[in-house]
Amino acid sequence: MLPIGLIKDTRYMEHRPGLVHPESPNRLRSLYRLVDKEFKDVVTFVEPQSATLEQLELVHTPQYIKQIMSTAGKEFTNLAPDTPVSANTYLAAWLAVGGCLKALEALMEGRFRACFCLVRPPGHHALTDRAGGFCIFNNLGVTAKYAIETYGLKRILIVDWDIHHGNALQDLFYGENRVLYFSSHYRGWYPHTGDWDEFGESEGLGYNVNLPVPKEMTDNDIIHVYRELVGRIVRRWKPELILIAAGFDAHEKDPLGRTRLSENAYGWLMQMILQFSDAAKSAPILLSLEGGYDLWALVSSVREVLRVLTFEGRRNRIPTVKTKAGSELVAKALHLHGKFGIWAS
Ligand SMILES: [Zn+2]
Repeated sequence: MLPIGLIKDTRYMEHRPGLVHPESPNRLRSLYRLVDKEFKDVVTFVEPQSATLEQLELVHTPQYIKQIMSTAGKEFTNLAPDTPVSANTYLAAWLAVGGCLKALEALMEGRFRACFCLVRPPGHHALTDRAGGFCIFNNLGVTAKYAIETYGLKRILIVDWDIHHGNALQDLFYGENRVLYFSSHYRGWYPHTGDWDEFGESEGLGYNVNLPVPKEMTDNDIIHVYRELVGRIVRRWKPELILIAAGFDAHEKDPLGRTRLSENAYGWLMQMILQFSDAAKSAPILLSLEGGYDLWALVSSVREVLRVLTFEGRRNRIPTVKTKAGSELVAKALHLHGKFGIWAS
C-alpha cells in the first residue's frame, strides 16, 4: 500500500472572512491540530505551491481572476453576499488550487495511494466568473481540467458528498464525457440546483448524476446508496482518477446543513470508495476539503476518513444494510440513468 499524502499550509488561514463567518480559519486550525497530534507519523505532509495563471484560466475568466487580484491588500471586499474576503484571501485561494494540483502531480507520479488536501477557501460553488457559497476558485474543477489536459485522462469521477450541491462543478463538466460528476445533497438548501433530471448535455449527457437526499438521511441510508450507486459507477465506468469534494456538513451537528449523519458515515464512505477503487486498478483518490462548520463534527469526521486511509480504522467488510429510503433513492437513480447505458443499466 502506497503512503497517504496530506496538503497542509498555515497560509490557508490568511483568508479571514470575518469573526462570525462560518467558514473560519479555525476550521483548518482544528484539523491541523488533529493531524499533527494523531496522524503525523502515518501521513506524508506536502506543501502546496501556488497555481499558475494559466492553470487558473483552465476554469476562470481572466477578468474574474483580475477581480480577485484587485482584493489584495484590502481589508474587506464583498465578492458575494455570503463571500467576503480579506487582504490575503487571494493568496490562500491561489494556494488552494495549487495544493490540489500538487496533490494531483504526486498521485500521477504514483507517490501516494490517496491525498487529502486540507485547504481553504473551498471551491465547489465557484463559477468561472463568480464567487459564491464561500468559494473563490474552483479547486477541483481546475484539478480535473488539468488532469485531462496534462495527463490525458479520459475518465475522472468526482464524488461530491458535501450536503450542498456543487453547482459550479456540475456547470463546468455538464457537456463533458471525460468527467462523471456524482453529488448527494439536500436540494432545499443553497444553491438550489441539483435536481434528478439534470443529466448533462450533448457529449456529457448521462455523465451528471444528482442524488437529492432527504434531510432525515441516516448513516445506513447513505451507506446503502453509495454502496449501490457509487459502487456500480466505479465497477462499470472504471475511473482513472477519483476526486472527492469532501464537505462534512451533512453531519448531525452541523449548523448549516445537518442531516442525521454521524462521523462514522464518513469513515464508511471513504472505506467504500477506497475498496471500489482497489477493484478498479487502484484509481488514485484526491480529497479536497469543502464544507463542514461545526468544529467538533468536522474534526471527528476527518479523523474517521484519515483512520480509514491510514489503515487504523479500516473495516473488513462493507455493511450490507438496506434501508427503505436508500432503496427508493437507488431505484430512482437506476431507473433515470439506465437509459444512458453508461453505468446504471
Ligand atoms: Zn456545503
